[in-house]
Amino acid sequence: MYRPPLKEVRFALHALAGDERLSGLAAFPDYSADFADEVLEQAARFAEQVLAPINALGDRSGASLEAGGVVMPAAFKDAYRQFVDAGWTRLGGPVEHGGLGAPLALCSAVEEFWGSANLAFKLCPLLTRGAIDAIQRCGSPEQRQRYLPRMVSGEWTGTMNLTEPQAGSDLGAIRTRAVRDGEAYRIFGQKIFITYGDHDLTSNIVHLVLARIEGAPPGTHGVSMFIVPKMRLDPDGALGQRNDVLCVSLDHQLGIRASPTCVLNYGDEGGATGYLVGEPNRGLEYMFVMMNAARLAVGLEGYSLAERAYQQALEWARQRVQGRVAGWPFSADGKPATIVEHADVKRMLLTIKAYTDAARAIALYGALQLDLAAHAQRPAERDAARARGELLIPIIKGWSTERGLLSPSLGIQIHGGMGFIEETGAAQYLRDARITTIYEGTTGIQAADLLGRKLGRDGGATMFGLLDDVRGELESLGPTDADARRSCQAAVAAVDTLRRTTTALLALAARGAQFALAVSEPYLELCGVVFGAWAMAKSHVLAVREFAADPAFYGGKRQLARFYIAQVLPTAAALAAIVDGAGAARVVAAASAVL
Ligand SMILES: Cc1cc2nc3c(=O)[nH]c(=O)nc-3n(C[C@H](O)[C@H](O)[C@H](O)COP(=O)(O)OP(=O)(O)OC[C@H]3O[C@@H](n4cnc5c(N)ncnc54)[C@H](O)[C@@H]3O)c2cc1C
Repeated sequence: MYRPPLKEVRFALHALAGDERLSGLAAFPDYSADFADEVLEQAARFAEQVLAPINALGDRSGASLEAGGVVMPAAFKDAYRQFVDAGWTRLGGPVEHGGLGAPLALCSAVEEFWGSANLAFKLCPLLTRGAIDAIQRCGSPEQRQRYLPRMVSGEWTGTMNLTEPQAGSDLGAIRTRAVRDGEAYRIFGQKIFITYGDHDLTSNIVHLVLARIEGAPPGTHGVSMFIVPKMRLDPDGALGQRNDVLCVSLDHQLGIRASPTCVLNYGDEGGATGYLVGEPNRGLEYMFVMMNAARLAVGLEGYSLAERAYQQALEWARQRVQGRVAGWPFSADGKPATIVEHADVKRMLLTIKAYTDAARAIALYGALQLDLAAHAQRPAERDAARARGELLIPIIKGWSTERGLLSPSLGIQIHGGMGFIEETGAAQYLRDARITTIYEGTTGIQAADLLGRKLGRDGGATMFGLLDDVRGELESLGPTDADARRSCQAAVAAVDTLRRTTTALLALAARGAQFALAVSEPYLELCGVVFGAWAMAKSHVLAVREFAADPAFYGGKRQLARFYIAQVLPTAAALAAIVDGAGAARVVAAASAVL
């Protein structure tokens, strides 16, 4: 049973991320906390009643490849129809093509519910949104008119075709060819790992394909982007002939089994018709434009699964009777206890919840920055928000998904042996979570992006600016409660540690990129832990202030913040030591002797 954590999400969106900044923007004339709450309530109902009940079924039956293409479980077809009818595909879509134009921060809050309820289902609208963004930003007016209304309405879905057998993290190695053919191109090649690359949920699929135009320069500067519809369109926009793109194989995967991951062959019958998006050789640049939103969306998946794992583990822990609450010296006296009464089980449950709360707060704050980057009034405000959002994206993607992996593992541990048995249902969350640290760039690639692109491009100025603001906010919160004051002081000290470590990392990079890259992942972890402490300390102060309004909820927030500061934040010192100390040199030296 999944219960969407409405109160938690509202608190993160309104009190921690500060979504009131959206209300004043011309792009969101109707935005208010009440409006957002109404949307969240409806989404929560849909997630709980329609998507969650078919999650285990999707895991068991998966999609299948048959003669006519990929066939989805019937329950998924029904759920997709309801998703479309309820208008959920339109929520963040461009208004001029039938969308509702809701801010990314609100869409992200809603997406948590989809991800917790049914990650395999959620990937279909997620990929479609990425394709919509790309066509909207980089396509011609005619392409927008032709494809977007039917993608925004959910009548068609979209995919992202980047990966090839020899081109995974390194997209400069792409070999798929594009040969000019009048106004269009003929596309030849093979793409692997394409999420929802084929299915029978809709009558058409709009593939966005990265390929190399004949004669293009090698490497990343010779890659272009193409629209390749599964069904060609007649001049009037009606569905025409089948295009020359075929799903030749469906992957058997560890998790998200109802999400069809396809091998797609292009051009086996003379060439798939494709249409160039934007200018030649700028395909990767266009992909990177959307990469932020896509990586944010995967970051949300991390804590979505942590939330789901937490709910299931808590329910189990409240029912399972085992042992007695220990006294000192240990004795076998006392009443039989449910396992939730054991201190170590409490610790595990609190750990998952603390990770979830912290990751949610950072992600929604990051999403808000991307909204401000697109829509803030003054150009300087937009630029600053863009730089800050882009800095946070690899941290959100990397830290949240790594927590999303640890959390279902703890969830299984709480179940004991029954967690290892598939029928219990706890194992699916761990299997589903396993992909989130890999696709849209592995954690190693996020760490390299954080170091090389985000710190490297301005010498750390955006990071230092953010740390100044975080420190300033923590100092200005003015907690009246001694405990909350201690949380703020601990978070401020951690911010100072991150500042020192950032300076040290940049100095290390100047000595040699390999040194800095050897500790870039612990650095990313450190950023997550410290920004998480910011959110938790702020949450602590607000919870003290609002306590009387809802003692159960805010009492929980206070205690969870104390737990985070006591049990999660201390890892920051160890991570900083790895980055600051001889860790990097040891990796480089040991690797040459051992590997
Ligand atoms: C279920 C699933 C769905 C997917 N969906 C899509 C999709 O819809 N569209 C699409 O185009 N792709 C998709 N992918 C592909 C996915 O994005 C890639 O698998 C991912 O980017 C990693 O590439 P790779 O598998 O080739 O691993 P590799 O690039 O071979 O990486 C292997 C290891 O080497 C490390 N590594 C590689 N290069 C570096 C480097 N420069 N620095 C440090 N470490 C490095 C990586 O971190 C990783 O640990 C999907 C994959 C899966 C499994």
